[in-house]
Amino acid sequence: MKVFVVNCGSSSIKYQLFKMTNEQVLAKGIVERVGTDEATLEMQAERTNLKTTVSAANHTEAFNIILETLIDPRLGVLESPDQIEGVGHRVVHGGEDATKSARINDDLIAVIEKNSKLAPLHNPANIAGIRAAMAAIPNAEHIAVFDTAFLSTLPPKAYRYAVPAEWYTKHNVRRYGFHGTSHRYVALRAAELLGKPADKINLITVHLGNGCSMTAVKGGKAIDHTMGMTPLEGLVMGTRSGDLDPAIPLYMISQGMKPEEVDAALNKDSGLLGVSGLSNDMRDLLGHCEKGAESAKLAVEMFVYRIVKYVGAYFAILPSVDAVVLTGGIGENSLPVRQKICEQLASFGAIADEQRNITTTRGKAGPLTANGSKLPIWAIPTNEELMIARDTRRIVAGAE
Ligand code: AMP
Repeated sequence: MKVFVVNCGSSSIKYQLFKMTNEQVLAKGIVERVGTDEATLEMQAERTNLKTTVSAANHTEAFNIILETLIDPRLGVLESPDQIEGVGHRVVHGGEDATKSARINDDLIAVIEKNSKLAPLHNPANIAGIRAAMAAIPNAEHIAVFDTAFLSTLPPKAYRYAVPAEWYTKHNVRRYGFHGTSHRYVALRAAELLGKPADKINLITVHLGNGCSMTAVKGGKAIDHTMGMTPLEGLVMGTRSGDLDPAIPLYMISQGMKPEEVDAALNKDSGLLGVSGLSNDMRDLLGHCEKGAESAKLAVEMFVYRIVKYVGAYFAILPSVDAVVLTGGIGENSLPVRQKICEQLASFGAIADEQRNITTTRGKAGPLTANGSKLPIWAIPTNEELMIARDTRRIVAGAE
């Protein structure tokens, strides 16, 4: 079975084509700047490494260009789009209605539309992508995989905020969480690698990319998570503040800022960028640290401190912890950040192993702590696209 995985933003389509018999990626790429005069198409496949400007006035045109390239006899990997049996769509917000991956029909599109108020930047783009893909690949089954789904098992004490109950019942104010597909993927991989049944494993999964989040996993299910009603809550991120006193935005508004300016500042100008004043990118920031920039050092310290603090909190709510799992661009690659996390978790029995930290990068999974470490800390590369492809295959094959 061939499965096409798509992740639609408002002006981009990221895609991967999988051959599911061996989970091989046949082609992958991105169309960017959809709707402008400068749209570009990238595609990597066995015989192709393409980057070219294209004409893509909307998502439907962009899909048609991707499909034309996939079936191009010189460049492509398919004879016909009909070879695609399933299309897996990443959808950001399923709210309380969509708690697992599902076939897309009018009812499910209505659910995604209903939850657009909770993800106004993402869900409308996801819907545009779904409609365009359904038009371009009408013979395939289309499956939605929700970023929020893995986190739908949080109990009320974890997902409710201690605010007037009406905020929840009338306005849907609660913790939903994000990055769920990544947390689910690494939790399943950790169970395999640690040799434990997936429904028996207890983990703290830590996704550290430009966005950052943590999940407490008990018996394979999420029981708490750092992101909230929006992705702004929790850890310090590239440009997002993470946790802060909820009175601060109101205070800044009283000081003359407009609500939308505060929103932009907290989402786009805060986090590593805000504290350092230098960069939101961990690699750049570590370079600045080496040159002695105090603001960069503080930003990295705060980044690690917040993670370690949440590990402590999640230890308190889990019956035991089989491993802490680091993933995402920083978790998979950043030696200094990983080393600091391992060292600062010594009070939970972690024994940092510098050599293992050095060798476990660039797509490798493995422990960063020594044999005999009471708390194993692992790096496991995430693969959200593969998780979406597997769900799509399972549903198309009629397993649900
Ligand atoms: P992501 O959103 O998962 O692509 O992760 C982006 C973050 O990962 C950025 O802060 C990058 O600086 C960081 N990152 C990626 N590769 C490395 C690396 N080799 N060393 C340190 N940080 C990295």
